[in-house]
Amino acid sequence: MTASALGARNRPDLDGALDQARTDYGAKRAKSLEAFEAATQVMPGGNTRTVLFHGPFPFRAGRGSEAYLWDVDDNKVLNLLGDFTAGLFGHDNAKIRAAITAALDDGLNFGAHNTYEPRFAALICDRFSSIEKVRFTNSGTEANLMAITTARAVTGRSKILVFEGGYHGGVLNFRPGISTSAPFPWVIAPYNDTAAAVAAIRDNAADLAAVLVEPMLGSGGCVPGTGEFLAALREESERAGSLLILDEVMTSRLGGHGAQSLHGIAPDLTTLGKWIGGGMSFGAFGGRGDAMDIYDPRRSDAVPHAGTFQNNVLTMAAGITALGEIYTPEHAVAHDARGEALRDRLNGIADEIGVPVRSTGMGSLMNLHPTTRPITDHAGVVGADDRLRELIFLDLLDAGYYVARRGFIALQLPVTDDDLDGFANAYRTVLENRANILQAYG
Ligand code: PMP
Repeated sequence: MTASALGARNRPDLDGALDQARTDYGAKRAKSLEAFEAATQVMPGGNTRTVLFHGPFPFRAGRGSEAYLWDVDDNKVLNLLGDFTAGLFGHDNAKIRAAITAALDDGLNFGAHNTYEPRFAALICDRFSSIEKVRFTNSGTEANLMAITTARAVTGRSKILVFEGGYHGGVLNFRPGISTSAPFPWVIAPYNDTAAAVAAIRDNAADLAAVLVEPMLGSGGCVPGTGEFLAALREESERAGSLLILDEVMTSRLGGHGAQSLHGIAPDLTTLGKWIGGGMSFGAFGGRGDAMDIYDPRRSDAVPHAGTFQNNVLTMAAGITALGEIYTPEHAVAHDARGEALRDRLNGIADEIGVPVRSTGMGSLMNLHPTTRPITDHAGVVGADDRLRELIFLDLLDAGYYVARRGFIALQLPVTDDDLDGFANAYRTVLENRANILQAYG
């Protein structure tokens, strides 16, 4: 037998460990399994939001309060996923509830301009200095589709430069192997590769309507964009006469005024979503007044942008309270610091135990990566053994901590310091218990 074959034989049994973790998960969740099987009769895979699916069958929440969730089998977990950043305020913030109730008291579905929308718009324009004018959508996906549409209309050009591992919505997904993005003429370059991005912009300058980029790959693994990369995108897009669209659907909660303020970058357009609607369905795109004014319906050449629920009063009311009253810039900076401290702590624990699990990210957003590869682009992220991701996810869930299956964490405001101490202890135990496997496969 060769040395490498012998090495493979001596490796701990990752598949066996995963099978056992799945069995343990299922043993506590008879009702969840029953609900899943019923759902598969009427929904493909029992699912309507792909990212939430995991083996052996998905976690099914029955209720939530503050930072906690109970599944339909009554297993209680600390929710560290925070609805992929949309759940910043926890499950039952009193101020948001009051705002929604007050809006409900005045009635739904006006099918008319209402008093909320300009107030909400003003708060957004005040908060993000590059946004002079804004329009609402129902989701981040729509916000990005509209920002792309705006850039194409303003420049009269067609192509859009995006980056490997970028995620801008259900039909704007640039992870490897996915070919169902909306049919725009995409140019795709590696993330954080300044020279490649500059070359892509220059090579396509005549046709390039926009550069669309996340300041940190969010769904793509919490890979922060370097200052050099983002500054080069700003400079070169301007030189090429293309619009820079910064997708801050996730990162707008960072730094008080979004990642753009942290990097000192003023994009032409910004897209927003998730937390800003206070937990309601939300999206928005905004930026330079001259670009946004193409939607001014008083113009004879106005570009139409309709959408039944765009100014729905529940989102508008919740958003005004969320952005204006609760998550102030000062609050955002303090929340970032808690996230940074947690990430350092998790990395310290992995170092002490000697396992290759890195936590990357910015502020209150982070992702666990069970790999020795550097996480500076999406190739590093997909290089990790996906079975290790699932194992860590199931182990943490078993200990009472809910993170995304891929290892994503978005800290919610109601999570307490005691909660985080408990999580750090559980994380240490999981890494210690799995040290052999993580060392062998990471
Ligand atoms: N952009 C980014 C950066 C996102 O993370 C997401 C959602 N994960 C979207 C856009 C799409 O937003 P939505 O799910 O509201 O359509």
